[in-house]
Amino acid sequence: MGDMIRNLGKMYMNGEWVEAASGKTREVLNPATGEVIAIVTEGGVEDVQRAIEAARQAFDESGWRETSARHRADLLFALADKIQANADELARIETLNNGKPLREAESDVDSAVSCLRYYAGMVTKPHGQTYEVSNPNMQAMVVREPIGVCGQIVPWNFPLMMSAWKLAPCLAAGNVTVFKPSETTPLTAIRLFELMEEVGFPKGVVNLVLGEGKTVGAELASSHLVDKVAFTGGTETGRSVMQAATGNIKKVSLELGGKSPNIVFADVDVNVVVEYAMFGIFLGSGQVCSSGSRLLIQDDIYDAFIEELRARTALIKVGNGMDPDTEMGPLVTRQHMQKVLHYIEIGKQEGATLLTGGRQIVEGEFGKGNFVEPTIFTDTTPQMRIVQEEIFGPVLVVQRFKTEEEAIRLANDTVYGLAGAVFTSDAGKAMRVAKQVRSGIFWINAYHSAYDQAPWGGYKQSGIGRELGTFGLDEYTEVKQINFNTSLQPLGWFKGKQ
Ligand code: NAD
Repeated sequence: MGDMIRNLGKMYMNGEWVEAASGKTREVLNPATGEVIAIVTEGGVEDVQRAIEAARQAFDESGWRETSARHRADLLFALADKIQANADELARIETLNNGKPLREAESDVDSAVSCLRYYAGMVTKPHGQTYEVSNPNMQAMVVREPIGVCGQIVPWNFPLMMSAWKLAPCLAAGNVTVFKPSETTPLTAIRLFELMEEVGFPKGVVNLVLGEGKTVGAELASSHLVDKVAFTGGTETGRSVMQAATGNIKKVSLELGGKSPNIVFADVDVNVVVEYAMFGIFLGSGQVCSSGSRLLIQDDIYDAFIEELRARTALIKVGNGMDPDTEMGPLVTRQHMQKVLHYIEIGKQEGATLLTGGRQIVEGEFGKGNFVEPTIFTDTTPQMRIVQEEIFGPVLVVQRFKTEEEAIRLANDTVYGLAGAVFTSDAGKAMRVAKQVRSGIFWINAYHSAYDQAPWGGYKQSGIGRELGTFGLDEYTEVKQINFNTSLQPLGWFKGKQ
């Protein structure tokens, strides 16, 4: 137990830290070593119901939703400052719990800070509209109001950053939250809620529940006291969240999976673009929703590109994220590693060529963690499961194309539509491809970059709604039209008069 972080992580509801009514606990593991790094309370349906009731009361009765935007902005700015002041600790916890290299965790902490500041700044700026309508005595206007109690559910791949993406717009807009991190990676969220308590969010406005998706998460999605559910996670889970939300016609936003195409045309500098292709898939050990997990390479440079890619991928330094030399960390859990290894077996059985990698790394200390070699498959066909399904690991599948039309057809040939990229020096071609690929995020000569200002989310089965930017705030507001009659006269609709 080298790095024990918490003896008992608790839930935060109605301004208090509480244990699960059942008394159950859960061990939290370090994916690089298999060691227990924390014990946390394991919430159940009864606990989440208490948190939801506290949130409902805070929204309906505490006056939070009528607080000034300036006040809410001040709280969010203060929270951003607190995160920044505790950045090293938060990054370290994230690496120990999720496994990602420390430099990635540090970048996530930065992103969380900047997202909180972005929405804190935005909410005090003008929003709403007025309209000229056909009756000159009427003034029509649109105001935005908070939706109410928001159930917010996040996955394990960006625990802190996703928390900020969810909490910042929600609270900025005057909503209250019942927030659920992944049961696998709850530690930075617990620390974040301690910082929220210090900052002084009122009782019941921010509530943290811990526990499994199928109990705690499902209750957030189905409870009639919850007005909106915001979910990030896998597409199958998203489907069940959407179904559960029908009972009270909850507002739903879903950020789901992907199988994003990274298209490389023959006019590029191979040496430069190979590294982007590697970054696209091996960042976060491939456990990134926007991973460029399908690499489409044009015929003329195919052999040269593949050779450079193979050679450089074999040099990636895999290891414990706490080691500053590590370039790629472990997978998040044993179970998830088994799933990724199973997909590698499927790829072999389907007849794809294993260009490099493909093995669990078991030598020495590696055997205690969940390490898989950076893996590349070539000679794939579009029907293969490894081409169609999200593997969510360090497994790249390569597809070969001849023409622009073929690249676009292949790029669009999955049920997903989260992200994509094109690399070319031909500006016209870049723009044509960008417009033809059916995805919510598209990079030209770049990969993975995300900005607070720019909307994030998917087409097709990659989701509903957008996070970040003005779009992200819109997802947490109801739109109300107010019609103001500036000159009240008898209506004259009914003839009879007493
Ligand atoms: P997951 O769907 O298993 O779990 C996500 C969260 O949902 C967890 O907190 C989990 O406890 C909860 N959950 C599970 N079952 C639930 C249910 N029935 N009802 C309500 N909540 C439930 O996903 P994961 O394995 O943690 O994360 C990986 C997935 O997340 C990948 O598919 C990835 O593409 C996706 N993802 C998408 C984005 C995006 O922005 N589009 C970002 C990150 C991750």
